[in-house]
Amino acid sequence: MYIGAFDIGGTKTIIALADETGKIYESEQFVTDTRDCREHLRVCCGIFRKQLHKCGLSSEDVSGIGVNLPGIVDREKGVLLRAVYAGWTDIPVKAWLSEMLGVSRIVCENDVNSCAVGELRFGLGREYKNFGWMTVSTGVGGAVVCDGRLVRGAHGYAGEFGHLKVEYENPARCPCSQLGCLEAHGSGTALTRMISEAVLEDEDFGAAFQAIGETPSGAANAKLAEAGNAKAREIFEKAGEYLGKGISYYTNILDPEAVIIGGGVAASLNWLMPGIQRSIRKYTFAQMQDVKILPTALGYEAALMGAIAIAAE
Ligand SMILES: [Zn+2]
Repeated sequence: MYIGAFDIGGTKTIIALADETGKIYESEQFVTDTRDCREHLRVCCGIFRKQLHKCGLSSEDVSGIGVNLPGIVDREKGVLLRAVYAGWTDIPVKAWLSEMLGVSRIVCENDVNSCAVGELRFGLGREYKNFGWMTVSTGVGGAVVCDGRLVRGAHGYAGEFGHLKVEYENPARCPCSQLGCLEAHGSGTALTRMISEAVLEDEDFGAAFQAIGETPSGAANAKLAEAGNAKAREIFEKAGEYLGKGISYYTNILDPEAVIIGGGVAASLNWLMPGIQRSIRKYTFAQMQDVKILPTALGYEAALMGAIAIAAE
């Protein structure tokens, strides 16, 4: 049987036709239209129908569809309760999709949870059964896998790494409205802020970006770090220290084998690592300091593989 994977993010959407082994037959990426969710889902269904047709299949050949949603999801009902970035609330995704496609098995999941499930089934989870997943990009999201199962918690919020408090002396404001959260100090947004502040303070650092023909950004900072720029490395290490602090809190409670990092900032993991390890040595109980910090084995496809995994479960 075949599987549909709908990875609907706040900015981009990927629709794919796959099977239970994770093999992808067709896949198409496009911009998420946040104006009208029902209309966006209609477009998703049109693309999926085209993919089925291209492979000589119909919706009767589909055993289920996994749907990643960028917010808080009621899994039982298949309702997207709230997606802050897209501005969607109370969307009956499961009901609408099953009506549009005639497929009854529609499994909805929060996109970060889905990444962890994808990693569990198709990535490093084949090796590790106790791990934390962290998406480090604009914000910091997380999920927790214990004994080979995703932990959801009482409200479905388990694994919110982003809102662990990591800075008390000079705390920055987090989008959640609290001060000093990991998301405010270790995310891509925080890196950008640290880089801009450093450029204002240090002319030479600004000149270093100009010299490589780049405006200051996380990706450009990685280029400078690569070229040996001490300031660029220091910024990554600082962000890494905060990430390592959050990782330590989690490790002390759940004793995981690994923490797996995905999201755009994961590409700079090498440069974050000295700071991460410094904090682990400082804040993690001695017997658990060998916790492995690894980039996702699924790269940018983690969420899409997650959508396949939740439908195949
Ligand atoms: Zn927060």
